[in-house]
Amino acid sequence: VDPKVGLDGLPGALGADPPLAPTTDFLNELEKESRQLESATPTEILRWAVDRYAPKFTMATAFGPEGMTIIHMLAQIAPETPIFNLDTGYQFEETLQLRERVKERYGIEVEFKLPELSVEAFEKANGGPMYQTDPNRCCFERKLKVLHRAAQGWHAWASAIRRDQSPDRAKAPIVGWDKKFHLVKISPLANWTKKDVWSLITKEDIPYNPLHDRGYPSIGCQPCTRAVMAGEDERAGRWSGFQKTECGLHSS
Ligand code: SF4
Repeated sequence: VDPKVGLDGLPGALGADPPLAPTTDFLNELEKESRQLESATPTEILRWAVDRYAPKFTMATAFGPEGMTIIHMLAQIAPETPIFNLDTGYQFEETLQLRERVKERYGIEVEFKLPELSVEAFEKANGGPMYQTDPNRCCFERKLKVLHRAAQGWHAWASAIRRDQSPDRAKAPIVGWDKKFHLVKISPLANWTKKDVWSLITKEDIPYNPLHDRGYPSIGCQPCTRAVMAGEDERAGRWSGFQKTECGLHSS
């Protein structure tokens, strides 16, 4: 596999100008930077990312609580940072409305990135809703492909993952090379807990998805998300009934 070409032959940051190349020296440098940022606050990490990578720095958000805190921080230090959302066509209305609330509160326009086919055309082409039969492929078609296209031309992006969310995320560095999307991935909230996130949301009155107050700790597309019961894992409501816990954006 040519490391310079991403999925579908689309170049990622390696195809950007100037190109970023994951040479051993480059990866060692990222590792060193990451170690140094372990004790930094999320805002300090974002400041570092903006200083280092803007205007080739972006953020993808699903409007989760973590993403909302990062948007809040970016609004303070670099509101010009481009932010986008993967609009699969299956999102909750409450999630879509968050885009408007972000615009009202911060003056930031989150861009919706859409798959090539509308939901209607997609379901017609595949004989019905693919999320019912093959959610992995549905996520691939409606999210991953769109994200690979959206990642083109950027050098770095912010991710809202926390290490304590899942075993898969536990080893996430603060700064690392995103092999899947070919750019530098910065996770300013890697060391934060869910409590840290919600404390900031409450303290700063940051907009958040009202579904969180109705038993949905983790929110994805409407057909693949259910409320969780007391004692269940916070991601138990995602793809319930399928052997699937991640859409594939953050897994290695
Ligand atoms: Fe499809 Fe569900 Fe994945 Fe959304 S979360 S892209 S509806 S499988």
